[in-house]
Amino acid sequence: MKLSFIVPCYNEEGNVKAFYEKMVETIDYNKYKYELIFINDGSKDKTLERLKELLKEKVNIKIIHFSRNFGKEAGIYAGLKEAEGEYIAIIDADLQQNPKFLLKMMKVLDETDYDVVTAYQKVRKEGFILTTFKKMFYKLINKLCDIDFVSGASDFRMFRRSVLEAILSMGEYYRFSKGIFSWVGFDTYYMPYDVESRNSGKTKWSFWKLFKYAIDGIVSFTTAPLRLATILGFLISISSFIYLIVLLVQKLCFGIAVAGYASILAVLLLVGGIQLLSLGIIGEYLARTYIEVKKRPIYIAKKIYSNKKM
Ligand code: UDP
Ligand code: MG
Repeated sequence: MKLSFIVPCYNEEGNVKAFYEKMVETIDYNKYKYELIFINDGSKDKTLERLKELLKEKVNIKIIHFSRNFGKEAGIYAGLKEAEGEYIAIIDADLQQNPKFLLKMMKVLDETDYDVVTAYQKVRKEGFILTTFKKMFYKLINKLCDIDFVSGASDFRMFRRSVLEAILSMGEYYRFSKGIFSWVGFDTYYMPYDVESRNSGKTKWSFWKLFKYAIDGIVSFTTAPLRLATILGFLISISSFIYLIVLLVQKLCFGIAVAGYASILAVLLLVGGIQLLSLGIIGEYLARTYIEVKKRPIYIAKKIYSNKKM
């Protein structure tokens, strides 16, 4: 088996069949004999029924049916565990990512020594606010982390089996694929692509979900924010010490009385705020440590369906 395609699906009843058609139309099945691994990530609609119909009618399909919604990252992990191909690719079920790029990716892997081909959007087609926030996020995370995060890089990628094994060896619960792919290294080829509009249904990402995902990404790949508390504490201690000396000199040498209910309140609130912020940051790390040490499984598959011939 040369190729495995991993397709995470959450409430994609209107897309899975169209997706399959588009795949076989673009990538000649007789030539490549690929397997399609669909992950039904706790869909609440008829995604599983649609997938089972495909399973009945077509070949080389696997469905990993999750016991509930575990998120796309868990879906990808499950798919990687099941994949048998020499090249493995991750692609969304909503037809936003055209399978024709898979052929191009395969060509790069065939003809060069690159290990990973990652599709990235040259121009983001999202609204101005979201684009600005995403850009800010990449600036921040690149400043804080030692590894590189490429802005606009997607989960739409193809890679060799050696990369799959490296990724599977990272068994962490909080999975931030973009970071994991950077962390394992390997030579990555970045391929520009245009995102198409969704075939049916709507995106599962709200602003709040993206924000939490961004925090997960930062906390998973750097401990730099923890240092913030130390630095702030240091700065505040030094400046308050200098201020104290100034006040003493003013009072003892010049007899100037210290004025200021407002200034005391302002400083008190500022320091209180910084303390809470620092506690919050420590809390973020502690909470993740707590979850990680429990070693809970990343996903639970209720059932795996397969009609694979090879
Ligand atoms: N997805 C998933 N589990 C989730 C959320 C999304 O498996 O909890 C899948 C979804 O079905 C789709 C892919 O991940 O195939 C990308 O999701 P979506 O299209 O909502 O994200 P966007 O393209 O807007 O970034
Ligand atoms: Mg999408």
